[in-house]
Amino acid sequence: MSNPITGGCQCGAVRFRAGKLSDPTICHCRMCQKAFGSFYAPLATAHDLVWTRGAPKLFQSSNRVLRGFCETCGTPLTYDYGAGPAIAIGALDHPGQAAPLVQVCVDDRQPFVDGLADLPVREFGPESDEARFMATIQTYQHPDADTDTWPPADNQTA
Ligand SMILES: [Zn+2]
Repeated sequence: MSNPITGGCQCGAVRFRAGKLSDPTICHCRMCQKAFGSFYAPLATAHDLVWTRGAPKLFQSSNRVLRGFCETCGTPLTYDYGAGPAIAIGALDHPGQAAPLVQVCVDDRQPFVDGLADLPVREFGPESDEARFMATIQTYQHPDADTDTWPPADNQTA
């Protein structure tokens, strides 16, 4: 059985479910770069989208586009130019459900993006400072699945 199409923001205040995804795309436009704080925006059209906890706050980034995000934690969630919302692929519980198939607005593509996959890889050994740091981390991020209540009672975040 395939996973349901669910997702949400980092803090868990906003959760959604979709019936189907289509047109998984990477958009390189400068507005998407800024809105995602990243090099491009991965987006997929979300059909039958339902907000199952909370709802995104909307920012009108142009005369044609509304962008939704969690007002508590800032996670980018939606892009809508009037034809129905596209959802941020990284906000899905299973981003592999929408592997990008096309890229658009390549005139704005950052020139280093094509080389990202060739960057050297730094591994952290088990005795490294980085590994010791990672061992101390207790995540407050919502899990990649729906929850009945959030946050858990024994996990009081600020
Ligand atoms: Zn949030």
